[in-house]
Amino acid sequence: MNSISQIISDQHTFFQSQKTKNVSFRLEKLKALKTEIVLKEQAIYDALKSDFNKSEFESFLSEFGIVISELNLAIKNLKRWAKPQRVQSSILTFPSRDYIYAEPYGSVLIISPWNYPFLLSLEPLIMAIAAGNTVVLKPSELTPNTSKLITEIIQTVFKQNHATSIEGDVETSTKLLEKRWDYIFFTGSVNVGKIIAKAAAKHLIPVTLELGGKSPCIIDDTVNLNLVAKRLIWGKLLNAGQTCISPDYLIVKSTVKDALIKVLKSQIESYYSSTPKNSVDFPRIINLKNTERLAQYLKDVNIVFGGEVDLDKNYIAPTLIDNPSLDSAIMQDEIFGPILPILTYNTEKDIENLVWHFEKPLAFYVFSNNAKFYDQLIKKYSFGGGVINDVLIHFGNHRLPFGGVGHSGLGAYHGKLGFDTFSHKKSIIKRGNWIDPPVRYAPYKSKLSILKTMFKWFA
Ligand code: NAD
Repeated sequence: MNSISQIISDQHTFFQSQKTKNVSFRLEKLKALKTEIVLKEQAIYDALKSDFNKSEFESFLSEFGIVISELNLAIKNLKRWAKPQRVQSSILTFPSRDYIYAEPYGSVLIISPWNYPFLLSLEPLIMAIAAGNTVVLKPSELTPNTSKLITEIIQTVFKQNHATSIEGDVETSTKLLEKRWDYIFFTGSVNVGKIIAKAAAKHLIPVTLELGGKSPCIIDDTVNLNLVAKRLIWGKLLNAGQTCISPDYLIVKSTVKDALIKVLKSQIESYYSSTPKNSVDFPRIINLKNTERLAQYLKDVNIVFGGEVDLDKNYIAPTLIDNPSLDSAIMQDEIFGPILPILTYNTEKDIENLVWHFEKPLAFYVFSNNAKFYDQLIKKYSFGGGVINDVLIHFGNHRLPFGGVGHSGLGAYHGKLGFDTFSHKKSIIKRGNWIDPPVRYAPYKSKLSILKTMFKWFA
């Protein structure tokens, strides 16, 4: 492998050759990528299984299936997306034809996390390539099998001067961040997000930051608790809770708390049996460090279900915690594991005191059949995106922008919005020469009133 500087220089030269601007070339590469990924389908499942016991079903649902859908979408629509878009002209530019050109930024750096290692590397890569950029991807060091496979796939499909994957840890990431890029797309934690933003600011590099946070889930007393438990436990325990938009903690109407806890317990057992450790469907925590971090959260709190820890197996049982204080360790940071704290409210002020205690979250969930209640909540609080009466599923519609706000992130992507993220929107006016209205030229005497009328009626 060439040095990082050499790779960047080669990619720069390749980008300047204008080859990536050719839409047929991009399509050819996206199709080749799809062929290679389809060919490696089983290997992808095996890698995810060996990295953290992820089941084939979850790997298809939350990684492989979405990647193939994004590829299909890009392949089907790329010609249309990449075409200069004509917009209405203005009287102030008359006579003209006005356009927006989607221009690739150039060399893109993508840094990915481990929790959906295949999806969160491939989805941005697909859209960066579709938009005509060159790409250096740095997948996570915590999922070595998946990262190795991603590198192999990229090496098979792309020449290094077009797209490449550089595996490594913080040190590699730091070296990459010292370089000058045209765009940085980062998915990961808030703390590292700040490091990325600082490095990008040095060269005024535009960034997308897909971060995390503590996403609340509010449940009132108008709901069918069995349905809530089904949906909530599915979303909380998917990937063993290691999901950026996982419901982090509950805020439940105090009158239904006990009944809710009861149905949550039986729902966990119905999905994963009374010994989830033996369930083939329940993933492990990614590494010992994170297992130990989660184990600490279980100290000095009221565990009402679960609580089993096996550090040797990186296992944390699905766990419910009743009413932890805001000072407890579990309420300090994003949990990122299968532990669910349950807090209560009686008044809207109680909800406010909890939600506004934290930074703006990436996701926000409300279970309620009271439209006035949930409408008021989604308007009042700022968050990346949300769902009424379910969790996570806003990720599944590529027409919805996916991203955070404030501490949960900057920018958004998915589907066409991903293509837009990796494209600079260049305004172009093609001026007509058949007439040259004289109003803007000096001498201005007696032209001001004409100008004012033009602004009044047409601008
Ligand atoms: P992380 O921030 O520790 O690591 C992400 C990437 O950054 C990795 O490739 C890692 O090598 C690199 N990195 C780590 N420390 C670095 C440093 N000091 N300097 C430069 N690079 C560094 O995140 P993670 O543990 O892999 O993932 C979990 C976090 O990601 C959670 O906070 C989760 O909410 C968030 N996340 C967000 C989304 C989203 O779409 N918004 C999706 C998945 C995960």
